[in-house]
Amino acid sequence: MALGPWADTVTRKLGYHFPLAVKRGYHMHYGMQEGAQLNNWVLDAERGYFLAPMLRGVRLTTGAEFAWRDAPKTPVQLTRAERVAREFFPLAERRDEEPWMGARPCTPDMMPVIGKAPRHEGLWLAFGHAHHGMTLGPVTGRALAEAMTGEKTVIDIAPYRPERFLV
Ligand SMILES: Cc1cc2nc3c(=O)[nH]c(=O)nc-3n(C[C@H](O)[C@H](O)[C@H](O)COP(=O)(O)OP(=O)(O)OC[C@H]3O[C@@H](n4cnc5c(N)ncnc54)[C@H](O)[C@@H]3O)c2cc1C
Repeated sequence: MALGPWADTVTRKLGYHFPLAVKRGYHMHYGMQEGAQLNNWVLDAERGYFLAPMLRGVRLTTGAEFAWRDAPKTPVQLTRAERVAREFFPLAERRDEEPWMGARPCTPDMMPVIGKAPRHEGLWLAFGHAHHGMTLGPVTGRALAEAMTGEKTVIDIAPYRPERFLV
């Protein structure tokens, strides 16, 4: 069961109460003013936004927002980051009808839950990769496959055992 931010919609029904929350983030694409070109990624670490050249234009990404997973979008950071980014790079029009929003699935120790479901034979869990799920997903997939088939896992998955959050 690898449902990312939606994991608890299923685990709650099975009686597991994992403390899962989300950190949300927003993206928007922009055109470029005539003659301008962005050739590489730019991270403005001091003011907390990122610009990336994409097929659809320049993508601006924000930092993390603490909010309920299903609450309406509140892209305040995007408006602020856009204002600052425009000082740095000649962005033109917004190209998306509304900002894209995603949710990073986070646990209190910011480590994922990987392992056997304690009370359901044959059910395995892999979620809660927070900010690093795209990077860590492949190794989690491998380790999980190895654990499920009884092989030695490529990394020790004991620190990620689901039981650490269950009373
Ligand atoms: C703004 C933002 C920036 C990020 N930046 C990075 C980064 O730079 N590097 C990095 O490594 N990671 C980054 N991440 C984190 C990464 O995207 C997540 O950790 C990763 O996507 C989690 O992967 P997952 O497969 O566990 O869950 P997800 O990718 O969220 O997949 C869960 C899937 O389950 C599906 N689903 C939900 N409910 C059900 C259901 N009932 N039945 C069937 N399917 C269902 C959903 O549709 C979804 O496809 C970022 C995340 C966000 C939001």
